[in-house]
Amino acid sequence: MPAPIPGLHHITALSGAAQDTLDFYAGVLGLRRVKTTVNFDDPKTHHLYYGDTVGRPGTVLTFFPWPRARQGRTGAGMVQSVAFAIPADALDPWNAHLNEAGISVRRTELFGDPVLRFDDPFGLTLELVATDTMTNSGAWGDGPISSEHALRGFHAPVLPIFSDDRTPDLFTDLFGWTQVQESENRRRFQAPDSDLANVVDLQVQERHPSGRMGQGTVHHIAFRARDADEQKEWQTALRDRGLQVTDVKDRQYFQSIYFRDPNWTSGILFEIATDGPGFLDDEAEAELGETLRIPSWLEADRSEIEDALPALTSPTA
Ligand code: ZN
Repeated sequence: MPAPIPGLHHITALSGAAQDTLDFYAGVLGLRRVKTTVNFDDPKTHHLYYGDTVGRPGTVLTFFPWPRARQGRTGAGMVQSVAFAIPADALDPWNAHLNEAGISVRRTELFGDPVLRFDDPFGLTLELVATDTMTNSGAWGDGPISSEHALRGFHAPVLPIFSDDRTPDLFTDLFGWTQVQESENRRRFQAPDSDLANVVDLQVQERHPSGRMGQGTVHHIAFRARDADEQKEWQTALRDRGLQVTDVKDRQYFQSIYFRDPNWTSGILFEIATDGPGFLDDEAEAELGETLRIPSWLEADRSEIEDALPALTSPTA
């Protein structure tokens, strides 16, 4: 078995207009837009990446803008909510900041940590979890939020599962994670030896509403492989357990394999992505995200692609 999976790599969601993701995720939540590129499987649409200073694995939320799509609905087979860690003393400043931005926020608590829960403009449920257990010295502080209070990276996303699903076994027996908390229907699993984006919550229920992909829903969730060799080992290990796993796909900034299984992933699309080469592969750190990057194999179609994409301007909060 490969070494334990060290944590989340990225989460990809469907949104409305590209500019609206920029205005909200950079303009309000203060993430850095670390890459502006296209959906490699649908190059006439954007793929926008938001994260910390350089888009470290575990901090990256990405969007396929889909402005003509209908509103989605979370349910079985889809990640239900996305969470970010914030420093414990940032809770009140964040609450005030979100209120000022006109966002309706609910204060709650999960496993002893205070949480701010709200929806993004497309209906995706977000949580800010106030905790000092997750650290990241590379949080982005050049937006509307100081680096002192900025989002650190992912806290626990919520994955709906059915009680007889093998998803808990996937985390413990394959990924090498440990169940660390349990309350009512929620079970929290944690990766060893990692201090960022190292937890997921499984929401165990007899029934879940059926989900519908659309704006405001998560498309897939990606976990980390440290390098291509480790990813290959995961591909083999998963196939040995009878899961159907894709071939390795070149995503330029990382390499990916995907799998989705009604029992092992509760029907949720999982990805395992390599840590490298990362977002500095084709841009200097100071210019990350500012201009449209297109992979070499699509470069011949650049003008056609540029014509099809909406123009983006600096975020307005
Ligand atoms: Zn992905």
